[in-house]
Amino acid sequence: MGDAMQKRMPVTGHRSLVTLFIGALVATVAAPGVAQDLGPHVRKVRDGIWVYAAKPQDANVTIIETREGLVLVDTGQTPADSRAVQAIVKKLSLHPVRFIILTEPHGDHASGNFVFSPPAIVIAHAGATESMKKGNFEARNKNLAAGNPEMREAVQGYRPVMPHIEYNQKMTLTVGERTLELIYLKNVHSEADTAIWMPQERILWAAASVGVKRYPNLRPFLTIDDILASIRMMRELKPEVVIAGHGPPGTTEIFDEMERYYMLLLERVANLSRLGKSLDEIKQELRMPEFDDWAAKERFSTSVELAYKAVQGKQP
Ligand SMILES: [Zn+2]
Repeated sequence: MGDAMQKRMPVTGHRSLVTLFIGALVATVAAPGVAQDLGPHVRKVRDGIWVYAAKPQDANVTIIETREGLVLVDTGQTPADSRAVQAIVKKLSLHPVRFIILTEPHGDHASGNFVFSPPAIVIAHAGATESMKKGNFEARNKNLAAGNPEMREAVQGYRPVMPHIEYNQKMTLTVGERTLELIYLKNVHSEADTAIWMPQERILWAAASVGVKRYPNLRPFLTIDDILASIRMMRELKPEVVIAGHGPPGTTEIFDEMERYYMLLLERVANLSRLGKSLDEIKQELRMPEFDDWAAKERFSTSVELAYKAVQGKQP
């Protein structure tokens, strides 16, 4: 509606005033109506807050509406997802995206920045830029686009857009009526992981510190102690909605399940280690049948490696 009406408007000296008026009208009258048709991949988690993911284990993008414009959390699993989010953003609001908060600097969260910025300001924890520079998103895009015309179209115009702001430890972002608290999560997934807490809405973004029925990909510099500390810190906030980096939005049960996984893992690795088993033997022998329905089982050995390190560190 807004576009059609604006196109019919004659260009006069009063244009900006007229456009402003139409803008206000559309923002207050049309928004609830258009919000109902955002496609099959969008879930509404609160009034004005939507989560997009095309496939169940894809990286989530959250669109947060405020009276002063939109905020995005991450920018899409692939550039095609970033374009899909761009189309949703256009349906939702006449405002552009003002801020992008990156929960992590990997390509499946951060490579779509170029679709929204400028004017969007990109915010991430210190270390994100360095990690993104090593990320080689161009090669990733090239792989994605090979033999895929939709993706080839989506990556058009790609340029690296690094964080404009890197914060340290904690940051509060206030946009219109919304307050977002950014909290650094140390050693949980990447070099720069950010949880986001909206205290009024009681929504927490947990980044990739947790998955939803998916084995974690644990890099050697992480520690299970730090991951458990982050999980417990976030659960203490008592969120009503928990949104992991990947996987459908849920509740604090996501934290309980992940904690249970790590506690059982540590216990079993400690038992085998006490029997004198080597890391390789433990990798061969250890079973976690409770989590057989989780995705990405090929990552399980990285869990065993970190658990073995944790257990060795605690043995006298
Ligand atoms: Zn990642």
